[in-house]
Amino acid sequence: MTMQYARCNWMLSLALDENGDPCRYMATGDTTDGVVATMSSHIESVHSVDPADLQNNIRAVTKTTKTKNLNNRPPTEH
Ligand SMILES: [Zn+2]
Repeated sequence: MTMQYARCNWMLSLALDENGDPCRYMATGDTTDGVVATMSSHIESVHSVDPADLQNNIRAVTKTTKTKNLNNRPPTEH
């Protein structure tokens, strides 16, 4: 089982939160499409940025991680 995730400031390097700090929002999902959908709603509502232009950017920065409950197993080679 894996999880997909992406951070807001990987696409919007100048995005700031309400305190003027770099936005640390992280979108997660079971699939890349889920991350893209979650991140799209975030950047539109919080940063007033049209997510239509950023779909490919979000996919490009989305990473995959193992879920935490697998941490006690030895890592598998890929
Ligand atoms: Zn953000």
